[in-house]
Amino acid sequence: MEPPTLASESNFSPLLTVQKKIVRAQHRFPISNCSKTFLRRFYPGVTTSEWNDWRWQLQNRVRNLKSLTRFLQLSEDEQSAIARHEGTLPLGVTPYYLSLFDEHNSAQGIRRTHIPVNDEYLYTPGEEKDPLGEDGHMVVPGLVHRYPDRVLFLTTGFCSTYCRYCTRSRMVGGGEYTFAISQWEQAACYIESHPEIRDCLLSGGDPLTVLDDKLDWLLTRLRAIPHLEFIRIGTKVPVVLPQRITPSLIKVLKKHKPWMSLHFTHPDELTPEVQESCRRLADAGIPLGSQTVLLKGINDDVSILKKLFHSLLKNRVRPYYLYQCDPVQGSSHFRTSVEKGLEIIKGLRGHTTGYAVPTFVIDAPGGGGKIPLLPDYIVGRDGDDLLLTNYEGGIYRYPDPDGKVGQDKELKSL
Ligand code: SF4
Repeated sequence: MEPPTLASESNFSPLLTVQKKIVRAQHRFPISNCSKTFLRRFYPGVTTSEWNDWRWQLQNRVRNLKSLTRFLQLSEDEQSAIARHEGTLPLGVTPYYLSLFDEHNSAQGIRRTHIPVNDEYLYTPGEEKDPLGEDGHMVVPGLVHRYPDRVLFLTTGFCSTYCRYCTRSRMVGGGEYTFAISQWEQAACYIESHPEIRDCLLSGGDPLTVLDDKLDWLLTRLRAIPHLEFIRIGTKVPVVLPQRITPSLIKVLKKHKPWMSLHFTHPDELTPEVQESCRRLADAGIPLGSQTVLLKGINDDVSILKKLFHSLLKNRVRPYYLYQCDPVQGSSHFRTSVEKGLEIIKGLRGHTTGYAVPTFVIDAPGGGGKIPLLPDYIVGRDGDDLLLTNYEGGIYRYPDPDGKVGQDKELKSL
């Protein structure tokens, strides 16, 4: 936000100098101690302003085994998995995100989410290349129309970092899918000719890797469609490339007022940089929600997720969805049992602020949509009373004379 300019003081240079300094300070991006140490050690000739330039971060992404060995002590498993990789979902990590990785510990949570291991080449029963059946509902290239009133708009196949459990691993980071403005126009025309569509989710790839003017073009084009009421952007950029949240991007977002779903995995991601990216978005009035994939050995623990969700709330991001990991090919090493997710929700609900408890969902394979799952709080029925249990295991009666809920449960002695 720019400080107000007072007309009567417009020629008063000391005040102007102070104002300019305030603006510069507001635009300056923080750099955490661990990133600073990493920068000095691995990029001695690079300035903090280069480091804080998102284009520098993208140009210097770590993309192959040789460069990764400069930064991390790789396990044999990681080395051979990277060496044999071909095709989509390549290795790709921004130097910023890499600076958060534990150099010596290949079991560290966020490191595991981005560095391939050989389990990724194991295909288990029930896994699919396109587990959500998106390709079957693609009405024009890059536009998935599955529910009557909503569309999924795949804006790009590019991400700043590649998550090893990505549901769209078939299409991100190269391969048969290509994206162009002419294709965006085709998708916009489709939405225009379907008045029942009121909600559009921009996803990808990561829409915030698109340049400001292109994003502005797309959002302007979509905002011109009268029946399109609601535009959302799904992104991991504020978490892995927080420097991208520049004043000029904020200007574009403020103009078009989308909602935003931020992809968070672990409390280690809530650095001063990420707090700043969330602050900029929230101050611009962008409603922020989070989505988190439940990942075995990474965040499948009540205390880890509670810490993450509390930190998100502090940063004005509402924990929105906790996803059971989709059965995408090569993801079995990331998938927990469904019980684990229910156990986590049980460990959160009632034990902390309701706003800190996301909805646990399974995105039904084959295109069934998101199905919410809740621990069972219904004990049974005693005559006109519904019997419920609370987060501490206490039993409570609720008068429900006309109800049938709980009838099918056999009551054990209370
Ligand atoms: S940022 Fe999103 S689209 Fe890109 S690899 Fe990660 S999960 Fe997939």
